Amino acid sequence: MTARKALPAIDTDRCTGCGWCIGVCPPHVLSLQVQGPQPWGPKRSTLHDEAGCTGCALCAVRCPFDAIRMVRADPGPLPQSAQ
Ligand code: SF4
Ligand code: SF4
Repeated sequence: MTARKALPAIDTDRCTGCGWCIGVCPPHVLSLQVQGPQPWGPKRSTLHDEAGCTGCALCAVRCPFDAIRMVRADPGPLPQSAQ
């Protein structure tokens, strides 16, 4: 069963590509990816593996530029015990 969790929403206008969030992410599901048409950049933080993200929010806490907000993921159907 998939637990409910929040996922990081990265504001690419605020993100500078500094990489702090990538360094603190325990499961290593963030990476710098090229944004825009040019292959040389700019690079911005990207969640490349949603399923691997634990929702711990360390990335949002660490970002010095306030570029990451935690957003509740689609919870799906309620578990039996909550009905
Ligand atoms: S810490 Fe913030 S500004 Fe730096 S790469 Fe991550 S999201 Fe972007
Ligand atoms: S919430 Fe935690 S696991 Fe998910 S991307 Fe941020 S630091 Fe990594």
